[in-house]
Amino acid sequence: MKTVVSLLLLSCALQAFEYNLVPKKLTKDVYCFFGKPENISKENGGNMVNTCFVQTKEGFVVIDSGPTYGYASQAYVQMQKIASLPVKYVINTHDHDDHWLGNSFYKEKGALLIGPETYEQNIQPGMATRMEKSVGKETYAGTKVVKLDTVVHDIHDLTLGDTVFHIKQLVPQAHTKGDLVVYLPQEKVLFAGDLVFNDRLSSLRDGSIIGSLEALDLIESLHPKIIVGGHGYRTDSNATSVFKAYLTTMKKQIQEALNNDISIDEISNKVQMPEYEKMKLYDVLHRRNVFDAYRELELYDEDE
Ligand SMILES: [Zn+2]
Repeated sequence: MKTVVSLLLLSCALQAFEYNLVPKKLTKDVYCFFGKPENISKENGGNMVNTCFVQTKEGFVVIDSGPTYGYASQAYVQMQKIASLPVKYVINTHDHDDHWLGNSFYKEKGALLIGPETYEQNIQPGMATRMEKSVGKETYAGTKVVKLDTVVHDIHDLTLGDTVFHIKQLVPQAHTKGDLVVYLPQEKVLFAGDLVFNDRLSSLRDGSIIGSLEALDLIESLHPKIIVGGHGYRTDSNATSVFKAYLTTMKKQIQEALNNDISIDEISNKVQMPEYEKMKLYDVLHRRNVFDAYRELELYDEDE
């Protein structure tokens, strides 16, 4: 009996995390998996991120590979149910690890990995990741850090089958110092990575409030019909609006505070923006965002 119980416990411990991924079809050949709008946890296995795939005549193109090897392998099973086609490319929107730790799975399947310069600079095989610490060994099992095959410096165009992909870094710094968007001009679908957030707040930790607002304007100027952000469920043509309003209000209130000589010690009490209190991750991220935006705006001259 004792042996049966310990065998059972052992098999549970070794069982891979079940992500229950269900692709949502956005157009005739564009699908996404939507993660929960919350922080990384053991319970969600890092599935708090959106990843997508595009079906072409010659194979799939994946946009962001997700938080673990297990996640990518389960996403692949779902893709193969739609069409028995290889994954030819994986495009990584930026270097935050919830977006690309599935890369090693697709690399094994023969896909080419494409990403920004910051990935090339900051991501090294063997490095410890935030994800590994947060989700635990079993969920992380098999996950490896791998290098890119193609680094995008500013612009990279790709055609697979008859589907055209424009890959572009819009501004020098927005969510990070290397944010790629992927635009499908034929269907007017834009994968925005973490330049667009919905249903939760974003972090300005590695980013820029000015750059984020510029990037959102540039995204809108393309008039996409569908905009998929890195987090959150909303994908309509106006999906930029909530995050843009948050940043615009923050910028205005901090600039007013700077004009009134409010110090950095007082700023987070001054710019509380209670209308966003109910938004997920407000408690964790808002004060820090105000602090980071203050540091940036203090040195920023609108007329330059
Ligand atoms: Zn993210």
